[in-house]
Amino acid sequence: MAYNDFDTGNHWLPFTPNRHFRKEPRVFVRADGMHLTTHDGRQVIDGISSLWCVGAGHNRREINEAIKTQLDTLDYATTFQASNDRAFEAAGMIAALAPGDLNKVLFCNSGSEAVDTALKVALAYHRARGEGHRNVFIGRERGYHGVGFGGISVGGIPANRKAFGVAMLPRVDHMRFIHDPVDNAYIHGKDPVWKEDPLLELEQRILPLHDPSNVAAVIVEPVAGSAGWYLPPQGYLKRLREICDKHGILLIFDEVITGFGRMGTPFAADFYGVVPDMMTFAKCVTNGVQPLGGVVCRDKLYDQMMKTDAPEHVVEFFHGYTYSGHPVACAAAVATLQLYQQHNLFQRAGEMGKVLGDAFHSTLKGLPNVIGIRSLGCASAVELAPIAGTPGKRAYDIFLDCFKRGAWVRPAGDVLVIAPPYIVEKSHIEQLVGTLAESIRRHA
Ligand code: PMP
Repeated sequence: MAYNDFDTGNHWLPFTPNRHFRKEPRVFVRADGMHLTTHDGRQVIDGISSLWCVGAGHNRREINEAIKTQLDTLDYATTFQASNDRAFEAAGMIAALAPGDLNKVLFCNSGSEAVDTALKVALAYHRARGEGHRNVFIGRERGYHGVGFGGISVGGIPANRKAFGVAMLPRVDHMRFIHDPVDNAYIHGKDPVWKEDPLLELEQRILPLHDPSNVAAVIVEPVAGSAGWYLPPQGYLKRLREICDKHGILLIFDEVITGFGRMGTPFAADFYGVVPDMMTFAKCVTNGVQPLGGVVCRDKLYDQMMKTDAPEHVVEFFHGYTYSGHPVACAAAVATLQLYQQHNLFQRAGEMGKVLGDAFHSTLKGLPNVIGIRSLGCASAVELAPIAGTPGKRAYDIFLDCFKRGAWVRPAGDVLVIAPPYIVEKSHIEQLVGTLAESIRRHA
């Protein structure tokens, strides 16, 4: 198929430099296992699980069959004032995987919707407890929480806000970023250690500024994925939990990237041994095959919302989407979670992540412009010195070069990330890291 067959000129691509794309298109037409096939028939190895989604690899028969069966049985039915059997089944499986008393699942269709949903649950919960004044949210610099107005407000990436100017959430603050390039440039399979406590700023500046009794929730990605796989310092998340508990502040982990196996455990919450009050998820929950996201909430949130003396016909939470708990998406989730379990894929993610990290550190360290390498879970990142005056260009050029040479990796500023499907083999890792190394050399 020729590229012109796709170039209707109508498709405005998200988060893509469209003008450049039209000159040098990248269009996928097939996928199988670890590989994508382009419109001009080239095989490309999928080094980022197609946006961190495809944990079990592409074109899994079990998931495809479950979707087909669901379509033939119940294609769709209203999700308001009724539900469907697959939504209950998927919620049960997700709650069983989630740690502690994170037991109540609110479905939506994406990570962005999950974040906005979690922020609204936080506000509604505090209001239901008679603490409606708690309406301040605290995020973190360079955090990515999707593109809803809630997500770009608590998110810490100014580029995602600056084109829009207005209409952010009114009461938001951001903690400093979790990266210390001096002492933690090279991190392999362990937590960074900081000389100073990065959470002192939360305790000494942010909370007194807003008064902690006004703060509704703190939201963080346990590992900052989109920014370039930045790892939390040792003990950071535990201490964050303690600070939140001390002040009655809810803690939200955005697990859209880390959820369902990326850390070698079901969630990053398990990896770090910290139970948040809510976890957002999307992506790997359906192996990327169907759009599905959600929020897992602790029992206390749900129970509080149900405590009402309003008449029986009044709903307790005025929120939801037409496709919340869509039966086809939930069928995909059920089949995906079964597949992960049957093949021990979370454990495999942890094991292959170590192989990936070894390859990053042994192959990339010392190459031109490499100023840091971070690996933990089934993801590794290499940080490059930016070209003066054009931040992000070096990594972007390397990404384009890798694609031409058959490897799909992810640029994030001046970082390149590889986070493969959990089915990855050692030979795939060698190909991915070898291609990346060669491109880094070419762009010295
Ligand atoms: N939160 C995090 C941590 C993410 O990484 C992403 C997507 N990369 C989102 C939210 C938004 O998800 P979506 O693109 O499905 O809206």
